[in-house]
Amino acid sequence: MTRYFEVTDRDGTARLGELRLDEPRETPALVGDLLEDYGSLWSDERDAPDEGDTSKVVVLPHRAAPPGTPSEVVEEKQPSPAERDFPSAAVVSAEKPEPSGHDVYILTGVRGGNSRNLVESVKRARRSLEPDSALFLPAAATPRNVATLAYLGFDAFDEDHAVVSGKGGTYMTRELEVPLEELEELPCACPVCRDSSPDELDGNDAARHNVNALRAELANVRDRIRNGRFRDYVEGQMRASRWQVEAVRLLDGTDYVEARVPVARRTEMDTNSSESLDRAEIRRFARRVTERYRAPRDDVAVLLPCSAGKPYSQSRSHGDFRDAIRRRAHEVIVTSPLGVVPRGLENVYPAAHYDTPVTGRWDAKEVEFVGGVLADYLRRNGYDRIVAHVEERGYGDVVEHAAEETDANIEWTVPEGAHPTDDVSLDALREALDGVEGATLDEEKRAYVRATADYQFGEGAGDVLDDAYVEGRLPRLRLVRESDDEHLGTLTPGYGTLAVSVEGARELGAASVEIDDFVPEGSVLAPGVVDADDGIRVGDEVIFEGPSAVGVGRARMHGDEMRRSSRGVAVSVRHSSDI
Ligand SMILES: [Zn+2]
Repeated sequence: MTRYFEVTDRDGTARLGELRLDEPRETPALVGDLLEDYGSLWSDERDAPDEGDTSKVVVLPHRAAPPGTPSEVVEEKQPSPAERDFPSAAVVSAEKPEPSGHDVYILTGVRGGNSRNLVESVKRARRSLEPDSALFLPAAATPRNVATLAYLGFDAFDEDHAVVSGKGGTYMTRELEVPLEELEELPCACPVCRDSSPDELDGNDAARHNVNALRAELANVRDRIRNGRFRDYVEGQMRASRWQVEAVRLLDGTDYVEARVPVARRTEMDTNSSESLDRAEIRRFARRVTERYRAPRDDVAVLLPCSAGKPYSQSRSHGDFRDAIRRRAHEVIVTSPLGVVPRGLENVYPAAHYDTPVTGRWDAKEVEFVGGVLADYLRRNGYDRIVAHVEERGYGDVVEHAAEETDANIEWTVPEGAHPTDDVSLDALREALDGVEGATLDEEKRAYVRATADYQFGEGAGDVLDDAYVEGRLPRLRLVRESDDEHLGTLTPGYGTLAVSVEGARELGAASVEIDDFVPEGSVLAPGVVDADDGIRVGDEVIFEGPSAVGVGRARMHGDEMRRSSRGVAVSVRHSSDI
């Protein structure tokens, strides 16, 4: 059990934490100055660590005791976790990291610059070691790489590499690592560099500057994590060196990332690089749309382009489209990088939260991915008619790609060279829907709730609407059980998900957390968790139940972390009652 480190916030694989010493330190951070190393002092007459001293982290002897060392000496110098009353660290090998109740683990044997080795090492360490311990990567951090290292899952670093490089004459910034003499001017305003020129700096100055730059970058990293925008930043920063791009790409698509990326949040998302297509949020959205979602009608679908404004229906172009369609068809938005967003899911994370550069040109990877998602979607939802109200270039290629894969017959309503919002296009759209019966407003609201229920809780969850009605105005809709007027959930703007009641959680099949014998108020803390479903992700609606209480809330860690952590908030409680 760790006692002096707590994870306070998460942004995917990266975390904010706090080393709880006399002077607390927020991580990711440099912590080299806080470590007191007992590593090679077996034979010395050094005292055992002081009980109750919380000014520093003691690195306990990690080498085997010399042959013949009396067991009481071993025990004194290497007390078991239960007996330790001071912050402690242990050195573990990247090959075989084993948990032993420490607050900090120093990972050794990571091969620098080898992206595959680095990614495998951090995955292994974070899986094996206690989730609420800090992972420390020594002698590696630079201003240029520390964001990527924190993104991979490291919490703590030292300044050794930056200092040694500086003393050797290397000047480091977020972008550069160059010999001092190659600089014409200093691209930095830290106290060392301000009002100086490169020829006035020596190795010690460069070392001090490097550490300043590293600290500044770590402050930046913490800020991005706090705001939930860390991935957006890393997609840019990683380009400073090849191995960082490799590492992020290698990590994408792994269970390690999938388990840690939130399913719902309010944070905006910039998808500005080709790696954005591989973000876990994007892939998960596409998967859920093609595996869980069911269209509310099967006569006519209209494929529409996305809009810069979100949610789409609030944009001017979609206002025009909706005027022309008048609920006479199922509206399906085609977009990069998400793939397909049925109208009912437009408020769901990240459909209402992403922003992406629009040039009208789609690259081959986008056409293939979005076209592939659209094909899967059309195979699952067999419409009698498919109307493509998109311009020929880009969007048209995607629709063609999907049509070829599925043999779908597409009706086109945007004339060559015209824009979908042009009158000629909108007239053609109206005409294509002539004679088709429109859905009622109530049916449309129900479609939003059903879509979200299936998306959030799994295929079939939306069947709860068979015995329920929907009240309120979009986007805030309440789901109420028909038979007894029991409130089941509310569609919440911002998150775009259903916030459920206890009854709602049961009916919709929300993931569950088993808790100990207590009645939680603001939150369920990790030590109170007895068991938790594997599939729980940050942001999920969960039901928690114990001998004395039942309630609902939003998950703050993933299921595995809830089970294995001894500190931190597992669930933010919305409603809790004793039983
Ligand atoms: Zn500087």
